[in-house]
Amino acid sequence: MKIVIAKTAGFCMGVRRAVDMVLDASTRYQEPIFTYGPLIHNPQVLQMLEEKKIFRIERIPEKGSGIVLIRAHGVPPEDQTALKQAGFTVINATCPRVVRVQVIINRYAKKGYSTIIAGDKNHPEVIGLLGYAKGKGHTITSMEEFLLLPWFENAIVVAQTTQNMSFYDGIKTWCQTHAPHYRVFDTICGSTEKRQTEIRKLAEENDAVIVVGGKESGNTRRLAEIAAGTGKPSIHIEDAAEIDYETLSHAKSIALTAGASTPNWIITDTYRKVENNLQKRHAVKAALYLFRDFLLKTNIMASIGAASLTYACSRLQGNERDFRHALIAMLYVLSMQIMNNLFAIRSDRYNHPKRAHFYKENHVYLWILAVLSGGTGLYLSFLSGVVSFVLLLIMSFLGLSYNQKIIPIQVKKGKTARIKDIPGSKTILIVIAWGTVTCLLPAVVIHGNPFSVVVAFLFVTGLVFARTAFFDILAIQGDRITGKETLPILLGEKQSFNIIKYTLIFEIGLVFVSYSAGLLVNRAFFLAFIPFVMFLLIRFFEKDRLVSGGHREFIIEFLLIATGLLSAVI
Ligand code: SF4
Repeated sequence: MKIVIAKTAGFCMGVRRAVDMVLDASTRYQEPIFTYGPLIHNPQVLQMLEEKKIFRIERIPEKGSGIVLIRAHGVPPEDQTALKQAGFTVINATCPRVVRVQVIINRYAKKGYSTIIAGDKNHPEVIGLLGYAKGKGHTITSMEEFLLLPWFENAIVVAQTTQNMSFYDGIKTWCQTHAPHYRVFDTICGSTEKRQTEIRKLAEENDAVIVVGGKESGNTRRLAEIAAGTGKPSIHIEDAAEIDYETLSHAKSIALTAGASTPNWIITDTYRKVENNLQKRHAVKAALYLFRDFLLKTNIMASIGAASLTYACSRLQGNERDFRHALIAMLYVLSMQIMNNLFAIRSDRYNHPKRAHFYKENHVYLWILAVLSGGTGLYLSFLSGVVSFVLLLIMSFLGLSYNQKIIPIQVKKGKTARIKDIPGSKTILIVIAWGTVTCLLPAVVIHGNPFSVVVAFLFVTGLVFARTAFFDILAIQGDRITGKETLPILLGEKQSFNIIKYTLIFEIGLVFVSYSAGLLVNRAFFLAFIPFVMFLLIRFFEKDRLVSGGHREFIIEFLLIATGLLSAVI
């Protein structure tokens, strides 16, 4: 069984831009923030936005205050004026590609042209576009409706940006033959074109199609129509709970796509649910996937990775095999990761629904595991010496305070900040914490060559940075909405990918230069293999979304474990 995720699935540029703008406004302003209509067609996200004091208005009141964001679809110009007159501060997040169509209509309407819009009459974008047509706008949803329109002396023809391409192609061809004086504009968004072309191709290549996205979302509905039109079994769902597995039961390969306003984590959740359900047909595979997910959700994988890095650090410096510190690092990471996941159950409901459910169901056992592992780690570090114990205590405090309002940093309006509120903090804190427990803590006890310690520290933190920043990129949309301050949120996805790749190239160079300078043990250069493989994988994952989030996490976590395994033979 194969599940192929469309490369074009998920947020388009315009929706991502509008979501970013409203979230930026919510951190910048204290006043209530409203969106004029739902920002995106997703009930969970809308609920999350309300929790962040981002509300929705459907009508313009006579009087109002606060900030109103005009979403990507745009509005008629008179609505924008009415919002301002009512007393709102308006942030216009209309997608630039929709603005282009508004400008075209406005320009020709001023010259007296009629406007024909190929689009859904009730769609907000079309309602907004009609507002620019100065009362001479007409909408059509089919060729029949188009042919029923009166003959115009002067007219322009435009399409809703998410219109079905083949329908609009038919209109354009008719105009060329029968009404060459009509000015026809290509206004279907490139993102829509690519999405529709891809789903046609994927539907041909696979046995069934799943389209994820709001039932109210025009572009998602069109994807569902295109998929259904190919004759392949297809389903349109808003979230994974609606999947009809009966329809998919005979499919050997399934294509998965999503509308322009579907957040990434809903796509990932759907992928995982389909994968788990279909794997049930193969007992061994199903058990393996369950086991993989268990290791990832409980952070056992991450904690074994921390132990492996500690071991690798000691081997790189030529120290004796240090299992005690490997165990301390493992217990520390296990404890901190579980506790932070427990604190984050509420926001994880949107970002990682499956993990949130797991943590909610098993919170008692997970608390016990986290406290026991944290306590045992501290006890073992105490046996290593006071400095080691104090260092681990500080790191534990820092790790726990990530989600808590106990750091006396003042943010705007006198609120106390959490470490979480500092831009980029999540990624950086994890890197510092891991670097400390895997490399510095053992170095306090085993007094080795300080230069070798620095090299080992850079090697470990580089790998942890690449791993953490990559996971943060995978979770960027949910983290942004749930308010986590990761590096990709601060720098953007592309920049973060570049930084990860440069870091890994630096790592490879670091191993070879340090080895040549005699700072690392004989055969240490073998460890350059790990950043090299990670570089290739991350480059591949950056371009290709055919591998699921679960597989990607597992592969990257496994590379940290592989560092320890490789160290055992050097
Ligand atoms: S589909 Fe295209 S035009 Fe519409 S919001 Fe997205 S990027 Fe903009």
